[in-house]
Amino acid sequence: MDREEFLKQLKGSEKTWDFIVIGGGATGLGIAIDAASRGFSTVLLEQSDFAKATSCRSTKLVHGGVRYLQKGDIGLVIEALHERGYLRENAPHLVSNQRFVIGSYLWWEKPFYTIGLTFYDLLSGTKRFGNSHPLSRKETIKRIPQIEQKNLKGGVSYHDGQFDDSRLAVNLMQTITEQGGIPLNHVKVTGLLKNDAGKVSGIIANDTISGDTFGLNGRCIINATGIFVDDIIRMDNPGQRPLVRPSQGVHLVVDKSFLGGSDAIMVPKTSDGRVMFGVPWHNRVILGTTDIPVKEFVLEPRAREEEIDFILETAGRYLAKKPARKDVLCVFAGLRPLAAPKENSDGARTKEISRSHKLMVSKTGLVTITGGKWTTYRKMAEDTVNLAIKTMGLPFAKCHTSHLKIHGYSETTNGNNWFSVYGSDQAEIIKLQKEEPEYAQKLHPDYDFSVAEVVWAVREEMARTVDDVLARRVRLLYLDARASMAVAPMVASIMARELKKDKAWEEAQLLEYSNLAGSYILD
Ligand SMILES: Cc1cc2nc3c(=O)[nH]c(=O)nc-3n(C[C@H](O)[C@H](O)[C@H](O)COP(=O)(O)OP(=O)(O)OC[C@H]3O[C@@H](n4cnc5c(N)ncnc54)[C@H](O)[C@@H]3O)c2cc1C
Repeated sequence: MDREEFLKQLKGSEKTWDFIVIGGGATGLGIAIDAASRGFSTVLLEQSDFAKATSCRSTKLVHGGVRYLQKGDIGLVIEALHERGYLRENAPHLVSNQRFVIGSYLWWEKPFYTIGLTFYDLLSGTKRFGNSHPLSRKETIKRIPQIEQKNLKGGVSYHDGQFDDSRLAVNLMQTITEQGGIPLNHVKVTGLLKNDAGKVSGIIANDTISGDTFGLNGRCIINATGIFVDDIIRMDNPGQRPLVRPSQGVHLVVDKSFLGGSDAIMVPKTSDGRVMFGVPWHNRVILGTTDIPVKEFVLEPRAREEEIDFILETAGRYLAKKPARKDVLCVFAGLRPLAAPKENSDGARTKEISRSHKLMVSKTGLVTITGGKWTTYRKMAEDTVNLAIKTMGLPFAKCHTSHLKIHGYSETTNGNNWFSVYGSDQAEIIKLQKEEPEYAQKLHPDYDFSVAEVVWAVREEMARTVDDVLARRVRLLYLDARASMAVAPMVASIMARELKKDKAWEEAQLLEYSNLAGSYILD
C-alpha cells in the first residue's frame, strides 16, 4: 500500500486506463472495485481522504429503509435489503445484525408497526436478519432500559444492519489494490481532457501533498463525487443544469448509558414527520438525524443550532435519561447527494426528493452517478460499470462483486470489541505491537487505541494527515472529539517519524486538526 509508488506508476505514464474514477466515497470506491475485478485497468482519485465527505458521516446503518416502506417505495426497499445481505456476507467484520425497538405510546402503534415490519422481513427473503415481533411493556423496557415509560404501552422489535462507514471505505480501498487497481487519496481532479472528436479522454490531477500536477488518459471517466458532481460536470459542460441538491443531516454522539442496553431505538415519526434513531456504536450511542435543504457544497459542513436542539429535544422526549449539550461527545454533519428533481423549487422538502441513484452519460461520454446510499453502493457500482462498458464499447465482462470478499473479511468477530473492525488484519497489528514495546502503548488512557494502529494506518491504510487517522482510521474524533484533540500531538509525532516529516509539518498538522476538531465539540 505504497502511495508514492502508486503515484510513480501514474505520473508520466502514456497508458490509457480503462476506468478513471473521480471520488473516493462509497460510490467511487465501489465502482473502482467493480471495474478492477472485471479485469479493467482502473485508477481512483480522491481529492481529500477516502470517505472524507459524506461517506464517514452516515447513521452507520446497513438497511432497507423502514421509512421508504412507509412511503411505499417498495422497489427501493427490496433492492437495499438484498444489498444489506450481500454486505454482511462479504464484510462480516464490519457489518453486524442490530436489534431495533420502536416504543408504542398509542393503542394502534403496536399492531400497525408489527404488520409493517413483518412485511419488511418478508421483502428481505432469504437475506433476512431476524424476525420482527411485538413486545410487551415489560419486554420493551428490558430491551431499552432508558426508554420513556410514561404512557408506554409496549413496542415492536425488528432487525437491520449496523456498520462502520469509513472503516468499510478503507477496506474497499484495499480491495481495489487486491483486484489490481490503483486508489489514491489527496489527488484532486482539476480538469478534463478531450480528444479531437470532443469526447472526454482523460483527466488533469493535482497531488495536493506534493503540489505536482499530471494528466492521465482514460476510456471511461466516471464522476462519482457525491455532492460535488456538478463541479466535474461544469468542467465538461459549463452550461449544464445542477443535478444535485444537498440535504444536511446532523448526528450527536453520547454515552451508551443514554439507551442503557445494546438494542437501538427507532422513532418512526418525530414532531415534524422525520425518522429518528438512537444506535449503539463502538460503546457510544449515535442520535440522529435531521434532514434540511442547504446551499453549501463543502467538505466540512457545520451543524446548525436548530438541528442540535431538535435532536436533543426529540431524544429527551423518548428517553428517560435526557441528553443535554454537556453530554455530547461529538457533533457531526453530513450532506446527502440527493438527485434534484427536474423542476427545482427551493421550497421543496428534502424528504420528498428521490433517494435512489441516478446515472447519466453526457454527450462527451462523461458518466455521472448521483444519489443512492451506502447500503446500495455495490449495486450502484454494478449499474455504473455496465453502463460505461456499453457506452464506451469496451468488451463485456460480468460483474463479480456480489460474492467478492472485502479486505479484512473474517468470520470470527470479537463482538463489540473495537479491534474486530480490523478483521483478518488483527493478527498483523498484534504482531506490530509485539515487535516494538512502544507500539503496544495506548494513545489515551480511556481508550484502547494503540500506537500500532497509527503506524498501521500510515503503512497499510494510506493515512497521510492527523485527520485521516483520528477521524476515519481509529474514529476517535467521532467517539470523543475532545479526547481526539488530546492525543493529536502524539499521533502527529508518530506520523512524522513514519512519513519522515519535520517539526514544521507536525505543527501545521496540529493547527489544522485542532481547528477541525473544535467544530465537532459543543460548547
Ligand atoms: C446524515 C446522513 C446519514 C446517512 N445515513 C446512511 C445510513 O445510515 N445508511 C446508508 O446506507 N446511507 C446513509 N447515508 C447515505 C450515504 O452516506 C451516502 O449515500 C454515501 O456516503 C454517498 O457516497 P458518495 O461516494 O456518493 O459521496 P461522498 O462520500 O461525498 O464521496 C464523494 C467524494 O468525491 C470527492 N471529490 C469531490 N470532488 C473531487 C475532485 N475534483 N477530485 C477528486 N475527488 C473529488 C470528495 O472529496 C468525496 O470524498 C447517509 C447520508 C447522510 C448525509
